[in-house]
Amino acid sequence: MNTNHSSPLLPRREFIKTTAAAAAAATVTPAFLPAAAAEQPAAPKMIGIQAGPVSFVDEGVGPVLDIFQEKGAINTVFLTTFTYGRGLSGRQIAGHPYPDHGKQESDAAFYHGGNYATPHPEFYQRTSLKQTRAPDHGDLDIVAAVLPAARQRGLKLFCSIEDAWRSDVPGLPGLTEVDLQGRRTSATLCPLHPEVHAFWTGLATDLCKSYDIDGILFFNENNGPLLESLGASHAQRIASSRATCFCEFHKKAARDRGLSFERAHEGFVKLDQFVQNSLAGRRPGDGYFVEFWRLLVEYPEIIAWDRLFDEGKHAMLAEVNAAVKAVRPGLQVGFHIEHVNSFNPIFRATRSYADLATKADFLKIVVYNNCAGERYANFIRNVQSTVFRDVPPEELLRFNNHLLNYGAEAGMDGLAQAGLSADYVFRETQRALAGVQGKCKILPGIDIDLPTGPNSRKASPEDTAAAAAAGLKAGADGLLYSRKYSEMRLANLAAAGQAVRAFKG
Ligand SMILES: [Zn+2]
Repeated sequence: MNTNHSSPLLPRREFIKTTAAAAAAATVTPAFLPAAAAEQPAAPKMIGIQAGPVSFVDEGVGPVLDIFQEKGAINTVFLTTFTYGRGLSGRQIAGHPYPDHGKQESDAAFYHGGNYATPHPEFYQRTSLKQTRAPDHGDLDIVAAVLPAARQRGLKLFCSIEDAWRSDVPGLPGLTEVDLQGRRTSATLCPLHPEVHAFWTGLATDLCKSYDIDGILFFNENNGPLLESLGASHAQRIASSRATCFCEFHKKAARDRGLSFERAHEGFVKLDQFVQNSLAGRRPGDGYFVEFWRLLVEYPEIIAWDRLFDEGKHAMLAEVNAAVKAVRPGLQVGFHIEHVNSFNPIFRATRSYADLATKADFLKIVVYNNCAGERYANFIRNVQSTVFRDVPPEELLRFNNHLLNYGAEAGMDGLAQAGLSADYVFRETQRALAGVQGKCKILPGIDIDLPTGPNSRKASPEDTAAAAAAGLKAGADGLLYSRKYSEMRLANLAAAGQAVRAFKG
């Protein structure tokens, strides 16, 4: 991989000039800091923002950090350091308006992704994933560029690392999952593959040893085969014939647990048939739900196989945590809990906050309330097309609201347009806090301009302030503005900051 070509948008020299000038201004003139930030007492809560490298390249390190402090009352930067995805990195995604800062043009032509810091080979000896350096911005090391300026301003810095890949990464094909029909997936990694574990612990160790950061936030939104088969999520397509993983490492893990690989495989083949029949509207004699439940009764291996996935994913988190603590006990590790936790009670049952609290210092819980409307409606439509096909969507939504302990929210017709309320942010934050029992911190992820469909809820300053205030009022240990600065409008960021400053906790 060529890691030496310069950024197509900003020559390295210009970037350094911009950042160095801002850094010098901060050093020489303490008054450079805005009065509000300078006079404010140290915030006891962690107020963080997720930001990708391109924002610092486009707008300059100093100016971006100043905006974070002045407008957002932010004291912690969650810098996207590793991902091939576009949710945490890159400019605004295609088809959505650019916010009122940054370059007003697509980065699709040069977006690649990978490790935006400098990988040191000694940390990747036990994995085939050795060449992951992101070429997007030439030889820029984003952690080295942002960290000193963050420190000068008294900001903490965490590296965000995400399990999101592209198929052309060298060494990747041998580590991908194997589906029901024996095919390799293009770019999802098997959570039981030892080299996958070695990569994540190696990356976390590399970042913590090579840079004086405050810790790591780990993202992994992959889901197990049951949810995958049913498409029982907001984003997922229904892919029952592509359920994973049935690789050699899964076979071995099953054998160690006395679990039959053949029975699990057979169960998922039957589940695939059930899903295909349901989608075609071929109603079983006993109805859709009874047929589904009977499958689980006859093939408990379906649930056990799903559990294998979760165990692998959570073991990876525990190992990353242990690797980071081995570098320095004071370093913190956080884990991102994805949005499906807000919609799917069956998924929710697999995510024990008490258990997760033993594996991380803080959990970032996704409570994105604006985009939650269209996402929740998608989830209801997905599960209503198979397992709950006998239930009218509106009634299914109401029933599900009760299961999830949600209050008065919009019905199916208006849900995408209405989003979910600030009360949803409050309830989910309280539930997480009750679950972890003080054993780890809870940071609700606040939706600031997550892209939504043309007729779906968009963030407004009022909504953003209400969501931020709801998280704090629920007792959260802080907030994490999501999902990335390059899609946030400044008025909404400022509204969150005002809610933080106004909060008397
Ligand atoms: Zn596997």
